[in-house]
Amino acid sequence: MSAGVPATLYDGRTSRPQPVTLRFAGDGTLTIETPEGGPVVAFHRAQVRVESRLGDGPRFVRLPDDQRCEVTDNDSLDAALRHWSAPGLGAWLHRVEQSWRLVLVSAVVLLVLGWVAIAHGVPWGAKHVAFMLPAGLLRTLGDQTLQTFDKTVFKPSQLDAERRRELQAKFTAFLNAAGDRDTYRIEFRASPRLGANAFALPSGVIVITDELVKLAESDEEIIAVVAHECGHVQRRHIMRSVLQNSAIVVVMTLVTGDVSSVTALGGAVPALLLQSRFSREFEAEADAHAIELLQRAGLPTGHLASMLERLESSHRADEDDDGGLMDYIASHPPTRERVKAIRDADRDR
Ligand SMILES: [Zn+2]
Repeated sequence: MSAGVPATLYDGRTSRPQPVTLRFAGDGTLTIETPEGGPVVAFHRAQVRVESRLGDGPRFVRLPDDQRCEVTDNDSLDAALRHWSAPGLGAWLHRVEQSWRLVLVSAVVLLVLGWVAIAHGVPWGAKHVAFMLPAGLLRTLGDQTLQTFDKTVFKPSQLDAERRRELQAKFTAFLNAAGDRDTYRIEFRASPRLGANAFALPSGVIVITDELVKLAESDEEIIAVVAHECGHVQRRHIMRSVLQNSAIVVVMTLVTGDVSSVTALGGAVPALLLQSRFSREFEAEADAHAIELLQRAGLPTGHLASMLERLESSHRADEDDDGGLMDYIASHPPTRERVKAIRDADRDR
């Protein structure tokens, strides 16, 4: 019910004008109220004719039986008529306005849903797809990546064969003691360009640089780094990171169940490892995995903490370091925070 429009009623029978209030309702009725609880009458839109406005002069609302109401407040009358008098244009405009509101609301809802889908759906889908990938595909992607790096940033390891065999045997013993039954393969490479570094490929190959072996003060520190890399392998962090940047592949794979389109992303794996780092969340997961393996194997978690600190100061000291590439594990999140969490893991046992 709209606000009332003051008017003067001439009833066509008596000459006495009567003050009234006109109420134009959205359902097309016009109700005429008299003051002090006098009689109330109602008319339908079809029975009423409102004169056109001519400047600011008074105009009449004409009713059946020669009754008419004189209105001087033209603005109030126009406002009241906007949703009442023109069954054609007014109602149509009203509907359009309503539907525009609907379109706007729908657009906002879609935007919010889109944002939620991107913020949560893509990482969720990427994780799902990463765990759908068969071992053969992961092996192919891992081999391709290693070949690419062998042509670019790696040189053959200078460690003697005896030392490599010794470390291999220690990793195997460690994984057996920790009860980790996933398949890993350790590869040694030299890389003056990348310095002390370690990283895991999707296939379960864990590459350790000669520089890292030399930087470590004990073999347990190297083992602790390998344990961290095992975490990245087991949680499929590389493929999840690559897939998170390819929402279309994630959606296609989830819809069709066909993982072959993921092969097309193979080229993104070396780039991911070289140019970006894992998210804070993934590093924390890998640290947690390392802590679990170390504890199960009966090794102090402090080995990982001290190796992280050593890696950080080595990369800080190296002026030519091109930004600590690969899984420069001491880079992110801030080492101090992680080191504390890792040391506390043992203290809280
Ligand atoms: Zn890492």
